[in-house]
Amino acid sequence: MKVGVIGGGITGLTAAYELAKRGYAVSLFESEPDLGGQAATFPIEGTRLEKFYHHIFTSDREMIALIEELGLAEEMRWLPSKVGIYYEKEIYDFVTPLDLLRFRPLGLFQRLRTGLVTLYLQRFANWRNLENVTALEWVRQNVGQQPYEVIFRPLLRGKFGQHADEISMAWLWSKFKHRVASRGPAMQRELLGYMEGSFQGLIDRLAERIGELGGEIYQGSPVKRVLIEGNRVTGLETESTEGGIEHRFPLVIATVPSFVFLEIAPELPEAYEARLRQVEYLGAVCLVLSSKEPLSRIYWLNISDTGFPFVGAIEQTNFIPPEVYNGKHIVYLSNYLSRHDPNYHLPPEELLTAYLPFLKKINPSFDEGWIEELWLFRADAAQPIITCDYSERIPPLWTPVEGLYLANTSQIYPQDRGMNYSVRLGQRAAEIVERVEKGETL
Ligand SMILES: Cc1cc2nc3c(=O)[nH]c(=O)nc-3n(C[C@H](O)[C@H](O)[C@H](O)COP(=O)(O)OP(=O)(O)OC[C@H]3O[C@@H](n4cnc5c(N)ncnc54)[C@H](O)[C@@H]3O)c2cc1C
Repeated sequence: MKVGVIGGGITGLTAAYELAKRGYAVSLFESEPDLGGQAATFPIEGTRLEKFYHHIFTSDREMIALIEELGLAEEMRWLPSKVGIYYEKEIYDFVTPLDLLRFRPLGLFQRLRTGLVTLYLQRFANWRNLENVTALEWVRQNVGQQPYEVIFRPLLRGKFGQHADEISMAWLWSKFKHRVASRGPAMQRELLGYMEGSFQGLIDRLAERIGELGGEIYQGSPVKRVLIEGNRVTGLETESTEGGIEHRFPLVIATVPSFVFLEIAPELPEAYEARLRQVEYLGAVCLVLSSKEPLSRIYWLNISDTGFPFVGAIEQTNFIPPEVYNGKHIVYLSNYLSRHDPNYHLPPEELLTAYLPFLKKINPSFDEGWIEELWLFRADAAQPIITCDYSERIPPLWTPVEGLYLANTSQIYPQDRGMNYSVRLGQRAAEIVERVEKGETL
């Protein structure tokens, strides 16, 4: 049976691969010239690099299993992470429990209390009991205002920007749970995974396997409209220079953000549309610098200072050695903003001018002359905003239109969105399509 897949990010590629393995005739349509979506890469110094910083955790089971299945296990590198917090002109290591104990901005009692609460969240807490309270309220009550301001809020700001105080405690729980599962055997150092030559290797291999299994991939091919007749999907229409082209499919899986789905499928039943509108997203703005000298010694630097115009400085070359990039030091400066915010659309040079004084705060000897190249990337739907009782707002994978499915990051919960969960979602979408086609009720 024929299936049309909309979107060539990790979810779309995985769903297409899984369906092709099951014998479906798959056609995938990606609007951009390149595949990969939020995990897409760009050329740099004779290699490739993600447009947005990417690593995986040792607990990312589905992703690791897929990498193995595709014969790419030897490309994986597992390296210790270097996480830090910038607070009042100083950089503090923040990887091990010992780092927390040494964290001077908090009094000793608060450090111990934060440690105990973190342990509780990692080992015992159930997210269902935490989803109807904000992280702000819960942490204030159980740890205190100062730890919230200094440690927890920067983490939330790092993902949700100005929405930090509205975020459900279930999201914060998932963050702690996930990270402890990525620690080495001694429960001390966290190991993070990266693929030799970037995750482009995974994207390429998925595309290659889809082709070998008889599937077709159309890049630079935006879907303009999902075709629906009565209450049944009949195909999709793509844009071309000669006008719209109709492609007939009895099954369609859309892996685009919900607001894009609403645009391309205007005939969805109203109740389902209302459900889709309940989830909002933040966009990500990532300024990438190639520098002659390092910015800091930390890979992942959370900024605990609301005066900064960016929320994280992620120095790729404190994770993957600079030699891989011809000795250059690569830094992502990231911020999360609504795609409707005028600052979201600022050009790279203007952003750099605004960021420069703050780079000097992180490293007083930082000099503009160190910067050799500059790139700016934006992702409109980088992060669904996980507010209280989010589980009640998640749209189901099967839409009320027969044969039409939706699989996107708004359905990943309580875990934080990430490639692992997009792989899982793509696999689940394929499984659901097969079960429905076999006549099973879900
Ligand atoms: C700043 C940032 C950092 C991240 N860091 C990590 C990390 O360290 N580790 C990790 O595991 N994950 C990370 N992620 C998350 C990870 O990249 C995503 O969860 C995952 O890639 C989402 O895949 P997806 O296929 O669901 O969505 P997307 O990647 O958004 O794919 C959707 C695709 O649909 C296409 N599309 C949109 N409209 C149309 C249309 N009309 N027609 C056809 N195609 C269309 C888009 O171009 C896109 O390719 C990060 C994400 C961001 C933004």
